[in-house]
Amino acid sequence: MVDPAQVGVVIVAAGRGTRVGGTLPKQWRSLGRRTVLAQTLRTFRKARAVGRIVLVLHPDDAGMGAGYAAHPDVTVAMGGADRPASVLAGLEALATLDPPQIVLIHDVARPLVDDALIGRVIAALLAPGAADGAAPALAVTDALWTGADSRVTGTRDRAGLYRAQTPQGFRFAAILAAHRVAAATGGDPADDDVAVARAAGLDVAIVAGDERNLKITTESDFAIAEGWLALRASGFGSTAAGADREEAWMDVRCGNGFDVHAFADRPASAVTLCGIAVPHDRALLGHSDADVGLHALTDAIYGALAEGDIGQHFPPSDQRWRGADSALFLEHAMERVVLRGFVVANMDTTLICERPKIGPHVPRMRANLARITAVAPDRISVKATTTERLGFAGRGEGIAAMATVMLVAP
Ligand code: MG
Repeated sequence: MVDPAQVGVVIVAAGRGTRVGGTLPKQWRSLGRRTVLAQTLRTFRKARAVGRIVLVLHPDDAGMGAGYAAHPDVTVAMGGADRPASVLAGLEALATLDPPQIVLIHDVARPLVDDALIGRVIAALLAPGAADGAAPALAVTDALWTGADSRVTGTRDRAGLYRAQTPQGFRFAAILAAHRVAAATGGDPADDDVAVARAAGLDVAIVAGDERNLKITTESDFAIAEGWLALRASGFGSTAAGADREEAWMDVRCGNGFDVHAFADRPASAVTLCGIAVPHDRALLGHSDADVGLHALTDAIYGALAEGDIGQHFPPSDQRWRGADSALFLEHAMERVVLRGFVVANMDTTLICERPKIGPHVPRMRANLARITAVAPDRISVKATTTERLGFAGRGEGIAAMATVMLVAP
């Protein structure tokens, strides 16, 4: 497992590159529904393996930085005179925070980078016996010529040639030292970070790049990038289709649950509702502890996930669940929520009975549900109603519960 606190990212967005035309630097132009910069930043912020991000802006764009710095995981630094100076500014900013073990350095102009590529670079750095650096690249497949005055003047062997991409990843202390030396000794301003690393004697592994991780350089690159983004939003052509589909819509699930248990004829001292023993003179009949509140809530979660109901997961025919604490069922449903990548936005349960009186026990019920589910108490509602003495609940033959749950994929 990768500890995100050990993975920092420097996004270099300090260029004035206007090769694409117009007067606006390309990182501020729009791509899809965002700017190029916002698109790139969003991908790294969503990457689970990444902790801290340093965004390096041109000093002229300092005013744009405040909005980004408002994110708790983003720090804004001001760039230098050339790319290596800007990268160094980003690395120094990371060094003054909590220095990570590894750092990925990425050009803002590659907004289509995805989780899979980020993961390959990180994995290459964490592998046993890993090199000091790891960077994505694609083997050159086109024929290579030299030319002058619109005439071919020669050919070159493409064997062993690669097209370099970013993010380029390194051990943090090693690349920081390499950039400091390059700055002190006047390195080539055109150098990328692999060049800086190699000049310092670091070895760099090549990991598989991605043709879609294009660097926006020309006007036509914008059109190509728009096309890839649209394809990704549709769920096709992406290695992370599920995660990217929320470009098109947010994944929100609502589920409902309903349960009834009858009172037994024998006298008792309490019933269990939402995990709390509520004093009452009759017990509820049931295979488990007959907790209608937890059963309705658990079924609401299974419903939101479209994963059946309690009866399917915990068959009444199975003796293991005789007298079981129903918290078990809710815990299982919550495990499914987490494994499916959702969080609970809120849950609301209504207990329906004439007696016992529920109101005085509601605070403890909410606290208990918060403990079982790890959902904040202000997102958990428990309330109660009677049926005006109508129907089975009104006649005191049993207790019913209904529940609604909202799940969101963040
Ligand atoms: Mg039940």
